[in-house]
Amino acid sequence: MANELNATVSRVDLINHGLMVVRVIPDEGVPSFAAGQYAVLGLPGSAPRVDYAEPEAPPPDPEKLIKRAYSITSSSQQGEYLEFYVALVHSGALTPRIFALVAGDRIWIGKKIVGMFTLADTTPGHDIIFVATGTGLAPYISMLRSGYRFEDEHKTVIIHGARISWDLGYMRELVGLATRWPNVYYLPIIDQIERDPDWPGQVGFVNVFFEDGTVERLLGHSPSPTRTSVFLCGNPLMIQMMEAKLLGEGFRLHTRKEQGTLFVEKYWAD
Ligand SMILES: Cc1cc2nc3c(=O)[nH]c(=O)nc-3n(C[C@H](O)[C@H](O)[C@H](O)COP(=O)(O)OP(=O)(O)OC[C@H]3O[C@@H](n4cnc5c(N)ncnc54)[C@H](O)[C@@H]3O)c2cc1C
Repeated sequence: MANELNATVSRVDLINHGLMVVRVIPDEGVPSFAAGQYAVLGLPGSAPRVDYAEPEAPPPDPEKLIKRAYSITSSSQQGEYLEFYVALVHSGALTPRIFALVAGDRIWIGKKIVGMFTLADTTPGHDIIFVATGTGLAPYISMLRSGYRFEDEHKTVIIHGARISWDLGYMRELVGLATRWPNVYYLPIIDQIERDPDWPGQVGFVNVFFEDGTVERLLGHSPSPTRTSVFLCGNPLMIQMMEAKLLGEGFRLHTRKEQGTLFVEKYWAD
């Protein structure tokens, strides 16, 4: 049946009370996908919710599945499980239920993995700038784990914005990549320094690294549509701000119909 729970949660890692990494094994095996794509996860309204989420009215049809899209973080080259990086929306319908999951629980996953936020249409040799807020980092983690061309001449800048440093998921992995590969740069930034006064790094929004010359210095040139592919993923306000800046500098959006060097994945509408 189309709505039957068809996958098992194999592992849950709570980064903190608002962020988790969850692994899921579909009963029919991991379908093939391209790094950067997303799957749809679902749970019925009757599934338990974490008690620290906002209370909600009982769902009218408790057996109806609540379904949402989630970018995959696992490598497209391994077929054991699919991994997701999920933020709790306290007032949300699905995430308070995802946060109540433990290993062994059942979940629904859509059969199709889709999306065009991938490296497939990037120009070989281009430098790549990955910009994310929050769990918008997810598709990049999959790309970097899936046979990414680290050895090539091109440079890769990974910019991750979060509220506080303990919201910077996958930091250890990204620091490891930047330490190992001379052409990879990891630039984390937080915007709520008052909650995290000991944070020794940059403070502000992701655009800081463009405004203060860091990106230009690392690339050796200003980002330009002829030499650079830029990916934006996450919060719609960040995307709006970065898109306006980059379109003003000559970048064009990559769409189904038109080749561009600005790739965008918005997680929710403004
Ligand atoms: C292509 C795609 C990929 C996505 N990948 C991920 C992912 O990898 N990880 C992830 O955590 N989420 C991802 N999302 C968002 C996800 O689909 C859900 O919207 C989110 O988990 C909230 O679901 P909910 O049912 O709990 O909240 P809902 O009841 O659907 O309420 C959502 C509302 O909460 C607000 N909101 C606040 N913070 C967020 C947030 N972080 N995400 C969404 N809405 C927010 C918005 O106003 C939004 O309208 C993705 C969305 C899209 C479209």
